[in-house]
Amino acid sequence: MPRLLLFAATTGYQLHAFAEAARRLDVVLTLATDRCHVLDDPWGDHAIPVRFHDVAGSLDALRGVRFDAVAAVGDAPAVLAAEAAAMLDLPFHPPAAVRACHDKYTARRLFQEAGLPVPEFFRAMLAEGPDEAARRAPYPCVLKPLDLSASRGVIRANGPAEFAAAFRRIQAILRETQATHLQVEAYISGREFAVEGLVTRGVPRVLAIFDKPDPLEGPFFEETIYVTPSHESDATQRTIREAVTQAARALRLYHGPFHAELRFNDQGAWMLEVAARPIGGLCARALRFGAGMPLEELILRHALGEDVPALEREDAASGVMMIPIPRGGVYEDASGIDEARAVPGVEDVIITAKQGQLLLPLPEGSTYLGFIFARGDNPAAVEQSLRRAHGKLSFRIDTALPTLRPG
Ligand code: ADP
Repeated sequence: MPRLLLFAATTGYQLHAFAEAARRLDVVLTLATDRCHVLDDPWGDHAIPVRFHDVAGSLDALRGVRFDAVAAVGDAPAVLAAEAAAMLDLPFHPPAAVRACHDKYTARRLFQEAGLPVPEFFRAMLAEGPDEAARRAPYPCVLKPLDLSASRGVIRANGPAEFAAAFRRIQAILRETQATHLQVEAYISGREFAVEGLVTRGVPRVLAIFDKPDPLEGPFFEETIYVTPSHESDATQRTIREAVTQAARALRLYHGPFHAELRFNDQGAWMLEVAARPIGGLCARALRFGAGMPLEELILRHALGEDVPALEREDAASGVMMIPIPRGGVYEDASGIDEARAVPGVEDVIITAKQGQLLLPLPEGSTYLGFIFARGDNPAAVEQSLRRAHGKLSFRIDTALPTLRPG
């Protein structure tokens, strides 16, 4: 039986999806994770404890093991997976490529060198404060941490006063981290897209283009609806595919999944970022291939060397809504879930917020209240189902006690 080593920092839906896929394929799946203490028993011997921020120590724990393939979910797991793959001589993305994906400055420079359109950008030292950078910045601009994700700390500024406020806010978010810089980029107007893809021994391929129909104009950039297939013209979709393919090459991704974000306007396609991992957690449920194969099975098969690029995404239109946090506070409960599930086209409504959980909206926080999934004949119908279902939901969020408020 082939043996696959999966790197993951969470224990949620996506792990179960991988475990099921492994069972179907008769693959022995071993998990490398920092969450061994909270794992279900079935993993038993099939879990190796690692620490994603101690790459050298974690590699020691993996020395001498025999595996036929590696896969990873999440940014930090992808770095360790790349190092492990290099050590074990298995096909994956190279460590330098994965690190470049997760450093917004390096990624921008590689895109620039490859001739991709790139907005004016520079790094500013956190310790120097905002004044000099505010003078230098093009307006409107976006300020962002170099290595966070899910839009945490990403803030638009239309002028120097907003720039200074945004700078201080990001300084506070990064206070407990090792970060020394933030990045400033000219604001790119246009419609935004997410692209899921796979690289097979150096050849990138787009699996799905998701439209993001809600405008994302700042000052914060909260994700909501993703719908695929895209309703853009064939020419626009071709431009998007070409840009993403070039970006994956520029980053030197080699083998495995990627998730990209970009904007499109009358000057063309502008990459925002490419992550060396699949779309996050529950959102992956919006993707099925062939006769219904989940993304996790596709990734497993691909890692094991199967010719999956032959598989097309299912015919149905599909979408997911990441349910935004309407305001900060303590989550109490949700109502209208059954009504939302009953909306035609809706496949599931999953509330992930837990009673008593402190909800922190963007830019400091980054979680969602949950997810709505819909399928239908066309993208417009899917989008409408998601919006109608969201309209049925209401959430009780209590005001947080002052002592619970973050610094
Ligand atoms: P993260 O890795 O945290 O998601 P991104 O760089 O992808 O950070 O930015 C998050 C979101 O912020 C993007 O999806 C986009 O909506 C917005 N954004 C980031 N950079 C720019 C930019 N230069 N111009 C316009 N919008 C941007």
